[in-house]
Amino acid sequence: MSLDERLARVRDRIAAAESAAGRPTGSVRLLLATKTQDAAAVRAALLADAAATTDETVPPVLLGENRVQELVAKAPELTDLRPELHLIGPLQSNKVNAALRWADCVQSVDSAELAERLHRRCAVLDRTLDVFVQVNVSGEPTKSGVAPRDTLALAETVRSLDRLRLRGLMTIGANSTDQALVRSGFARLRELGERLGTMELSMGMSRDLEAAVAEGATIVRVGTAVFGTRG
Ligand SMILES: *Cc1c(COP(=O)(O)O)cnc(C)c1O
Repeated sequence: MSLDERLARVRDRIAAAESAAGRPTGSVRLLLATKTQDAAAVRAALLADAAATTDETVPPVLLGENRVQELVAKAPELTDLRPELHLIGPLQSNKVNAALRWADCVQSVDSAELAERLHRRCAVLDRTLDVFVQVNVSGEPTKSGVAPRDTLALAETVRSLDRLRLRGLMTIGANSTDQALVRSGFARLRELGERLGTMELSMGMSRDLEAAVAEGATIVRVGTAVFGTRG
């Protein structure tokens, strides 16, 4: 399958899931998770997306990088296409300055320390930053994210920092073939979002985006279904 076909297939999956959930077309944004893809591959995907989405109800893709190193390597080569760039992987404090050179949004805020550091750097730069609080809904020890029970407190901390704009909550679904288990984790994120007011929900990947859209995802983050298996 070509990149165009894989992208179309993912768009179709999202549209079918929106429709199954009784949600309007275009209510879910597609974020391309571009880890390990070089700038040329990312550019090709952005151009393929732009060519395919002439329908104005479908917003353009977002880009998500896991590692600051990859973000700073690729972003300068894509500026002419003006993509919205999200950091979706863990952010170490010594990488905050580099991340803020390119990221429009950090989806992986999982501690008050990181939130405060981002806020202070934004104050120096006289800018604001969109953020998501990352929640570990599955409790798997290998996953980043704040525990569900600590989420509301961290969200309040973020809201108290005037350089940060809390857009929503992000999670990585349980690493399981049990769809009910995966879906209950997404439901948990939705409930936390509801307690915070209307929040965006970044959840769902290649293997579980349908369950995420059914539970209210507003952003799904897709890598392998668009780019193929990572080497
Ligand atoms: C890689 C990655 C994705 C996409 O996963 P795929 O299975 O390749 O679709 C989504 N979110 C995060 C945080 C990732 O690291």
